[in-house]
Amino acid sequence: MSNENVRKLDIYGWGSNPPDFLVKTVSSLRDQLVKALSGLKHEGSGSSVVVPIPDVDKIVLPVPKFTVDKTEAIYSFLSQDKKERMRHSYGKSAADFLRVLMVSCSILHFIYFEDFDSCPDYVAFPKDEQEIEELLRYCEKNKVAMYTYGGGTSVVGGVDSSFCKRFYKGVIMCSLERLNRILCVDEESQCVTVEANVTGPQLNQELKTKYHGRWTFRHYPQSYEFASIGGMVSTRNGGHYATQMTRIDHFVQSATLITPRLGKIETPKIPSSGSGLDMNRALICGSEGAFGVVTKVTLKLMKTPKFSQTVRIEFKEENNAVNCVREIVQSGLHPTQCRLISPMEAWLNRVTKSANTFVLLLGFESHILSDFQALFDCCKTIVQKYHGIGLTQQHLTNDKKLMTKRKTKTITKMKKKRKKKMEADALRYGIFGETFETVVTWTSFKALNNAIHACVKQHFHNFNDKKNASEKAPFHLLTYRFTHCYVDGCAPYYTLLVHYKRKEKESAKAYCKRVLNDWTLLKTKLNECIVNNNGAATHHHAVGVDHRKAYWEEIGHRNVQVLQALKHYLDPNWICNPGVLIPLPKENIDIHSSLPISSKL
Ligand SMILES: Cc1cc2nc3c(=O)[nH]c(=O)nc-3n(C[C@H](O)[C@H](O)[C@H](O)COP(=O)(O)OP(=O)(O)OC[C@H]3O[C@@H](n4cnc5c(N)ncnc54)[C@H](O)[C@@H]3O)c2cc1C
Repeated sequence: MSNENVRKLDIYGWGSNPPDFLVKTVSSLRDQLVKALSGLKHEGSGSSVVVPIPDVDKIVLPVPKFTVDKTEAIYSFLSQDKKERMRHSYGKSAADFLRVLMVSCSILHFIYFEDFDSCPDYVAFPKDEQEIEELLRYCEKNKVAMYTYGGGTSVVGGVDSSFCKRFYKGVIMCSLERLNRILCVDEESQCVTVEANVTGPQLNQELKTKYHGRWTFRHYPQSYEFASIGGMVSTRNGGHYATQMTRIDHFVQSATLITPRLGKIETPKIPSSGSGLDMNRALICGSEGAFGVVTKVTLKLMKTPKFSQTVRIEFKEENNAVNCVREIVQSGLHPTQCRLISPMEAWLNRVTKSANTFVLLLGFESHILSDFQALFDCCKTIVQKYHGIGLTQQHLTNDKKLMTKRKTKTITKMKKKRKKKMEADALRYGIFGETFETVVTWTSFKALNNAIHACVKQHFHNFNDKKNASEKAPFHLLTYRFTHCYVDGCAPYYTLLVHYKRKEKESAKAYCKRVLNDWTLLKTKLNECIVNNNGAATHHHAVGVDHRKAYWEEIGHRNVQVLQALKHYLDPNWICNPGVLIPLPKENIDIHSSLPISSKL
């Protein structure tokens, strides 16, 4: 039933069978982390496994809440296979990992934890738009919720049905993995039309083999390996370009959306039309499955860059580093890479040998321009003004290089897989790692950054006030980088690492639950802190269910009402991704209230 030719994500962690080099990198990074978190300031070994690997074979899933009659047209493409139901239960956030670990821990203690709470009753594998329409009709008629599952890499609860399932007869997860054909390449207009579940690697491989790599789909999120193009469009995914074409929206020419009420809606295949509202952006990009299913996308392609050059600049002072980045971006130079990395993050990622300096990775790429000297010269004046070290003539000459195929491949392999593999791995050793991000004006960055650091510090400080006075605050690290920069602001991306020690006599399940509860509480505070300090609920991780209250706060209740009205029109029975992005009327959430987010939960 499912598409056997498609690479699958593991139920726990990232892709299956990681290559040896990756396993080695991950283990050595994990050791480095353990050392950083447990060895430097905090007693405790940290080197032993705290939570065992889940044994998925032993997990008992909840009994499906309803049965689809064999005479139904959709029956032929439904599955109740246990592994498929599990694989389509959660996304890939650290909280998702904890929930999966919690279930497996219960099994090891011989308590069958039946509440795999986001498990769908069925997984549907439609092969085309017609089958999706049939599925939507069935769900409407039978009051069944339907969640769309692209690559399953959501880190914000975008494929989590547990939130609203109580309002429905049941849940069908609509996996689009059979919609994975590359439909046509328009060589003259340099664009390609693909079905929703084509992935970046699949498209780029085809462009390489059939079109000699003349063009690329030049958008590399860290989840590049598994995220689907339909999923990226639905979540307004952020890619590797640090300036200008930062999001997938920039590459979308047109798309097809299937909605419950109107069926197929297509946006015109016209580049950058100026007619009225841009329907790609109003209806499709960022709709997160709430209006229906994106089935096709036409994307603009880029000429494959042949040349790239990156330099490393170091700063002792944070203010200097931030102001330097701001001026470079505001000068209109549009660097492809413009990542400012905080000292600890630079050290953990092996960019520096010690955690003392802010590092700016500044780079340009082009398919035509081989010499970036003039561009770097412009940057040099700004760098010198802010006492940056490292952008020298010498450095430039030595570092200039043709981007070879080998180099590109290695970067792709390493970056895309390492992060989640490491997070899942480290979690089992008691190290919780999660990221969160936002975008804010340059004017507000400092206050927001201070508030976030204070929020995290305060949260862990409060540990000492708890009833159990012997409970020590877990050692933690908060690092950040700018992933994307704009003339008017920057997108800081934070990584939080916490060493949660398992207490004596604490079961593995209780441990996971404690960590999950603590993170949920902190995440709520962070959402609140971000919007209260003029940040967006998210820059590119999407809204899902995790950021929805912050999102409503960000856009205001009138805009939420517009979204609800649109949803109500396109999806009158609210069957598509209920709870994601837009509040369900049945939830009775008061969107007019200006109460802080945490008190609305
Ligand atoms: C290791 C890791 C790294 C990541 N790095 C990045 C990054 O660099 N940049 C970034 O922006 N995000 C990143 N993410 C988040 C995630 O990869 C993105 O949100 C991605 O765009 C989701 O695509 P997907 O196909 O996996 O969608 P899914 O996870 O399957 O779904 C995400 C949401 O979109 C909906 N959806 C999916 N496909 C469709 C469709 N065809 N039609 C309608 N709705 C649909 C789903 O219902 C869900 O609500 C990362 C995640 C992980 C785990």
